[in-house]
Amino acid sequence: MAEPHAPSYYAATANPFPAQPPLAGSTAADICVVGGGYTGLSAALSAAEAGYAVTLVEAHRIGWGASGRNGGQMIPGMRWSAPDLVERFGRETAQRLFSIAATARARVNDRITRHGIACDLRHGHFTAACKPADFEAMQRELECLDYVMGYDAAQIVRPDQTAGIVAAEGYHGGIYDSAGGHLHPLNYALGLGEAARAAGVRLYEDTPAIRITGGDRPSVATPRGSVSARYVVLACDAFMGEVDADLGRYTMPVANYNIATVPLGEDRARALIPSNAAISESRFVLNYYRLSADNRLIFGGGEKYTPRPPRDVAGFVRPYMESAFPELQGIGIDHAWGGLVGVTMNRLPHFGRKGNVFYAHGYSGQGVLLSTLAGELITEAMRGTSERFDLFASLPVKPFPGGPLLRHPLYVAGMLWYALRDRL
Ligand SMILES: Cc1cc2nc3c(=O)[nH]c(=O)nc-3n(C[C@H](O)[C@H](O)[C@H](O)COP(=O)(O)OP(=O)(O)OC[C@H]3O[C@@H](n4cnc5c(N)ncnc54)[C@H](O)[C@@H]3O)c2cc1C
Repeated sequence: MAEPHAPSYYAATANPFPAQPPLAGSTAADICVVGGGYTGLSAALSAAEAGYAVTLVEAHRIGWGASGRNGGQMIPGMRWSAPDLVERFGRETAQRLFSIAATARARVNDRITRHGIACDLRHGHFTAACKPADFEAMQRELECLDYVMGYDAAQIVRPDQTAGIVAAEGYHGGIYDSAGGHLHPLNYALGLGEAARAAGVRLYEDTPAIRITGGDRPSVATPRGSVSARYVVLACDAFMGEVDADLGRYTMPVANYNIATVPLGEDRARALIPSNAAISESRFVLNYYRLSADNRLIFGGGEKYTPRPPRDVAGFVRPYMESAFPELQGIGIDHAWGGLVGVTMNRLPHFGRKGNVFYAHGYSGQGVLLSTLAGELITEAMRGTSERFDLFASLPVKPFPGGPLLRHPLYVAGMLWYALRDRL
């Protein structure tokens, strides 16, 4: 039974999107995409544009997963800093990885413009240094971005300039990236869905894939029908384990929570974030926040290592917001919601193929831009040009040890260690 969208600020302000029927009966397609978030929608849309007959099955509603619930932060690059990429992969491979990842923002912009997607797009992302040592690391990172990656959209913001970007307490400067930004995530997903439909993709909601079988011509079984296809794309991110147990070992579903305050009015909202950029912190367990188009503060933060959601999500996130902005003490919170982030062991995304089944997941909290690109790289590979897809597929992502029972406790232990390190 399809679940409605999580009761978030985004669901309350979603653009109209007609319910799509569940799949009934057997059908055939060139490509069957499983999952209706950014990865699946982008793969389906780009494949339909390339002339393939595409069917997409979504277990719930289009944009039901992380794509309809996230912080809306468009963060260029990958979870690893530029110097870390160079150190681990060498200069040449790091440059190639970075330059491909850096195209993601242009791809998202292109989709928004070309399909007229109304999703409150705003420009600018700021990574705030939570410690002086983080700011020093950022200065080294900027040098690497400038001289090794040839990337000129980022600039250092000195500690004494930070208040011009964001008025929160306790930051020591940071990096402002004019190629970053923010958007209304669910409306972006629904806009991709609408564009896919217009391009001829057959969309089915309330249609979970329950089994993928076959080699050369795989088949996707659903409760009331099946799709046989030349290629299958698995785009289920944090839920991948439900459709492919082996792939599920590569991501840990981690719960993350957001709140939206009452509208603050333009003056009060801009006093908090004068730049109107998306803000995220240098901490491992970070706060991230931004203003909505109607001047609410949308704030994500907090650490929660048990699978059960907090009874009071607003009460759980509120202290983190109030510690960043003491002037918001007691402010009304209109919406509070959570979602599952697909996190890999080393925070690099996991791309690959098993015969004619392609997959991309595990963006580890930085998937708003990369997932749109991932969908397009999958289509590019299916069309026979696989260099860019293969480079991402070569990233050294390992499965979590210990199977489903042990991997959560091990992960919790790891997260607690990083959370402790944040406080030192
Ligand atoms: C609370 C939260 C905040 C985040 N904030 C940010 C942020 O600010 N910036 C950023 O870059 N990233 C952020 N992320 C991560 C980002 O949202 C994801 O990386 C991205 O949306 C992944 O897109 P996806 O299409 O791969 O997965 P999803 O959007 O999760 O889509 C997967 C879809 O597959 C469907 N599905 C699952 N199983 C099946 C099945 N068996 N059959 C059919 N369909 C199935 C699900 O219903 C779902 O709709 C955040 C994530 C969360 C949860």
